[in-house]
Amino acid sequence: MADDRLVHYLCTAPAHRRSTELGLTQHGGRWALCPDLLGQGHEWVDTGGLQVADAVIRWREIVGLERARPAA
Ligand SMILES: [Zn+2]
Repeated sequence: MADDRLVHYLCTAPAHRRSTELGLTQHGGRWALCPDLLGQGHEWVDTGGLQVADAVIRWREIVGLERARPAA
C-alpha cells in the first residue's frame, strides 16, 4: 500500500518553474509533481519512486534551487 503514495515523476519543464510550490498530479497512473499543473508540455523525469518530501528535494536539486548535498 505504501507504494501507492510514492512520487514516480517530476516535471522539469523550464516554462513550468514559475513557482517553487509543487502540485500533485498523476502521470501514467503514478503520482507526479509539477509546479504548474495547468501548464502544457510537461517534461517528466522518472524518479523510480520517492516519498513526497524526498521528491520535492530532488526536484529542487534538479532545477537548481538547492544544491545536492555532498556525501558525508
Ligand atoms: Zn509541468
